[in-house]
Amino acid sequence: METIGLFGGTFDPIHLGHLRAAAEVRRRARLDRVLFIPSYLPPHKKSGAVASASDRLRMVGLACRGHKGFKASAVEVEAGEKSYSILTLRKIRALSPDARLFFILGVDAFLDIGTWREYQRVLQECFFIIMGRPGFELDRARDVLNGKLRDSIGPLVTGEGAAGPLPPQTRIFLLPIRALDISSTAIRERVRRGETLDGLVPGAVDAYIREHQLYRGR
Ligand code: ATP
Ligand code: MG
Repeated sequence: METIGLFGGTFDPIHLGHLRAAAEVRRRARLDRVLFIPSYLPPHKKSGAVASASDRLRMVGLACRGHKGFKASAVEVEAGEKSYSILTLRKIRALSPDARLFFILGVDAFLDIGTWREYQRVLQECFFIIMGRPGFELDRARDVLNGKLRDSIGPLVTGEGAAGPLPPQTRIFLLPIRALDISSTAIRERVRRGETLDGLVPGAVDAYIREHQLYRGR
């Protein structure tokens, strides 16, 4: 059975924390591939992205180049409207009807699942892999929605990986990883202050940010 990880985010910009985390999840869960899905966000939204959707997608494409099993997906950017995970999931499901699909989320992002449109549906239609992140204990995932999801949360026991038999009740798998303490917010601040991005983003992304003068404004 094919296994696909769906790794969504603003990716403003994509950084080595994302790549390292996705590589470790892919290896530990033995996912066949990971799709990186930058979200479309309406321009000029206060809390929205800083770089345009097309710049963020192109940086994700550059970052995935040369990583076996990693691919940038334009599904949300091309939709050109606020992206809902349930719709994204159904589009990918239509392309890969027989695959096992896993949303990959940092625990910080998972704690917001109550705000997702039709999140119960999303949980019925695919699996989740939740990874820890510096500053966010993985076990906090169990308290999401006041513990309402507790019975569907469990460890990912990776004998046969995500393609093997899965415990019948578990929809949400907790996977401890060695996450890097890098965030896009910190990267945007470094660019603004004129600091280097060495060791924080892939070289091609660094070059793209310079060439297109991203993140320079306040
Ligand atoms: P921002 O600071 O703008 O919020 P970010 O670094 O959190 O950016 P996002 O695009 O918000 O990046 O995150 C996309 C996904 O990647 C989320 O599920 C998030 O939890 C996860 N993620 C981000 N950075 C890391 C990291 N260093 N290690 C593990 N997971 C990460
Ligand atoms: Mg974030």
